[in-house]
Amino acid sequence: MKALAELAKRRGFFFQTGSAYGGVSGFYTYGPHGATLKATVESAWRERWATREGHDEIDAPTIMPEAVFEASGHLDGFDDLLVECPACEQSHRADHLVEGQTDIAEAESYTAKEIEGLLAEHGITCPSCGAPLAEEPVEQFNLMFETAIGPGSTNRGYLRPETAQGIFVDFPRLREYARGELPFGVAQIGRAYRNEISPRNAIVRTREFNQAELELFFDPDEDEPDLESVADVEAPLFSAEAQTADGEPSFQTIGAAVESGPIADDWVGYYVGVATAWYDRIGIDLDRVRFRQHQAAERAHYARDCWDAEADVSGPGQDPEWIELAGIANRGTYDLSHHEAHTDERYRVFSEYDEPRTVERASVEPDMAALGPEYGSQAADIAAALEDLAETDQRAFEGETVAVEVDGETVEIPTEQTGFAVEEVTERGEQITPHVIEPSMGIDRTVYTILVHAYDEDEIDGEERTVLRLPPEMAPTLVGVFPLMDKDGLGEQARNLAADLRAVGLSVTYDDSGAIGRRYRRQDEIGTPYCVTVDYESLDDGTVTVRDRDTTDQVRVGIDELAATLAALQDGELAFDQL
Ligand code: ATP
Repeated sequence: MKALAELAKRRGFFFQTGSAYGGVSGFYTYGPHGATLKATVESAWRERWATREGHDEIDAPTIMPEAVFEASGHLDGFDDLLVECPACEQSHRADHLVEGQTDIAEAESYTAKEIEGLLAEHGITCPSCGAPLAEEPVEQFNLMFETAIGPGSTNRGYLRPETAQGIFVDFPRLREYARGELPFGVAQIGRAYRNEISPRNAIVRTREFNQAELELFFDPDEDEPDLESVADVEAPLFSAEAQTADGEPSFQTIGAAVESGPIADDWVGYYVGVATAWYDRIGIDLDRVRFRQHQAAERAHYARDCWDAEADVSGPGQDPEWIELAGIANRGTYDLSHHEAHTDERYRVFSEYDEPRTVERASVEPDMAALGPEYGSQAADIAAALEDLAETDQRAFEGETVAVEVDGETVEIPTEQTGFAVEEVTERGEQITPHVIEPSMGIDRTVYTILVHAYDEDEIDGEERTVLRLPPEMAPTLVGVFPLMDKDGLGEQARNLAADLRAVGLSVTYDDSGAIGRRYRRQDEIGTPYCVTVDYESLDDGTVTVRDRDTTDQVRVGIDELAATLAALQDGELAFDQL
């Protein structure tokens, strides 16, 4: 979509940062219209995924210490496969080259060795200079940006590669705000950083980007999503089975897809339904979207079911070009249990039983007066080992002696010295590690897809125009206000009108330069859905023309009702042809 990239730059949606300094690839600046569109996407996300669901939102730092990423697994495993061209020294994602030059899909799940084999087998070449890459080594390249926290270099930190860890690390505190009651969700919108090997496609793959993530904590034995509210949503599903059979995505209701497959998880199904309706609302064409189920090999070992939302962002007449907009995954207990294992905190919640339960509890009270003199400094470790054993294996205490392992040695302790006892206790519940469902969305790719799907070229009165058919709710500017000419008081009335509309919160552009037709075209290009013109009739009868971007039809509306009419058009309460 060269035309879109050109439009984005010329009209201030987005452009490469710092071209005066040569421009480093993977960094983009949103211009005035783009920044507004991005902010609108974020508020639409917040409204649907946090506020309407009753979830809290947080704002965590973008730099965190190494220990966090050691626990999360990013330090060891957040790698992409790198191959360097021996001729032009360009770096490439080796799996993307394989996907681009063969029929193999989802090459990301292959190992470095397997990809090396494929480079040789398929005669893969460098896309920049054409040199053969068959002999080149493929390496794992960690995508995190490293930094030193404070003076000196001992305290290593990383820029977060996803917003999620900011939620997981502070789960013990966030749990308190939720009064320890499952299910609860925590949302976050913010920057993420990945040192991508080959950034491409403008804002589709950058090194600094924006994510909107929701972590929903729940008890799989107790909590169920409100499936009924999305049961009738028709989502374009591309199941793992359909992919293997070279099939196509098909529209299925969420109700049926969860009931009889292919969606394996109720919560994931719920969020696929929410995402489908949300994409439709913000101007993404569902006929160019598919929810692709991960194949077992592609899925992280902890992810029980995972669906990616993908959008086709190809231009007219081109082959589809699918990009990933979002991942919706059931992550099980992976994140919380890893942070618990790496800290002294408990990443659990107390789950109350329906009825209190009476259970047998084994305990020990080791006779330290006997163990102390005999085992000296080892006595405390022996006592701790006996406690663990009582919790896990009561039968170990049935004989004359009990064997425990301390410092790699087996020690036999007379059972009578362990103070072993079993008693009946009544328990109200237990500590459980919540499971997590994570809908993780890329804001930039969402913005890009909205623009691609809104982009159109047509002909009005024999003149070609470019038009962005954005939903009124998403358009950076709702209304352009023009005087027919800036004379005879028309300019003044139009400027006053623009100020009045801004005062009630509508986004307005005032424009009096050039022919009226050109002014319409300028607004069409940035997706402004309505243009208001003050003409001589306005001075006589207090009405103005309102022009609809998509049909170019015009109607006269009283200035008194204009603000309310435009607000209703923006909210979708009124359609233009009802005016
Ligand atoms: P990809 O396979 O395309 O690299 P991913 O599977 O690594 O993406 P996730 O880790 O699931 O992506 O991140 C969630 C979302 O964040 C993605 O669906 C995407 O919309 C967005 N995202 C990820 N990496 C980038 C990037 N480099 N630039 C822009 N958006 C990104």
